[in-house]
Amino acid sequence: MVFFNIMNVSNIKNALLLVDVQNDFISGSLALKNCPAKEDGADIIPIINDEILQDQLCSQFFSIIVYTQDWHPKSHCSFIDNIEHSHFDYQSNIVHLAKPTDVKVFDQVYLKYPLLNITYPQIMWPKHCIDNTWGAELCKDLKIAKPTGTIKDVQFLHKGCDRDIDCYSAFWSNEKFVSTGLKEKLDSLSIQNVYICGLALDICVYHTAMDSKDFGYNTYLIVDACRGVDTFKINEALVNMSDNGISIIQANQVYEHISNTQSQDKITNTQLKSQDKSRIRYKFFDR
Ligand SMILES: [Zn+2]
Repeated sequence: MVFFNIMNVSNIKNALLLVDVQNDFISGSLALKNCPAKEDGADIIPIINDEILQDQLCSQFFSIIVYTQDWHPKSHCSFIDNIEHSHFDYQSNIVHLAKPTDVKVFDQVYLKYPLLNITYPQIMWPKHCIDNTWGAELCKDLKIAKPTGTIKDVQFLHKGCDRDIDCYSAFWSNEKFVSTGLKEKLDSLSIQNVYICGLALDICVYHTAMDSKDFGYNTYLIVDACRGVDTFKINEALVNMSDNGISIIQANQVYEHISNTQSQDKITNTQLKSQDKSRIRYKFFDR
């Protein structure tokens, strides 16, 4: 048993983002085990519950825990069943996708965002995570943290609610048309470090981590608490994240890692304080 006895000595604030641990991605209409990589989203639940959401630890080190949920209207632009009613951009789609009826699941097409008249790429998915349905609910086995100790807030962030644009990242809609408000929430708690895991690694987890890093947060991907859609894209995402300065860590390293970061901060704070004292002394001799 490892004890981390450094509570209240550091000003570093940590956030935990648990991305889309929802029924449809585990055993529903877009279950990852039926996707090309054949990974099982259910595998991450004991890792999240037992390693990351340990009561004694997460209530000492995290300021906020955010559960994100894909939350789409029935008419959502990402659903292949809606392709014939979508804002299909005939000019931008390549020849073999010349018309909406040619499109298959996992194809990328170009759609138009009518509000801004901008064309954007969209992967077509089976219907999933329709708002207020079982598929959009968090998996019942996933532990839900309580605001206690250092945890000031537990949030449930619904994304992808606009029928005309998808929303992979917890921070932005795709193409950054609309903010979700998550950055403002994290900044209101002076968050510096963001720890991320969930489903799917190469889609929503990836975009969340990249945006987190773009916003300047120290960003950590808990890789064994993620599962993905496509093996090639999972590997590509891991390389891109690493190249962008996102640290890839394991769930059983999270608290040791946070503890080390806070110890470093304590040392730095102590050094700063003694520098302040010497400045005060210097002023004194100056007089
Ligand atoms: Zn979705």
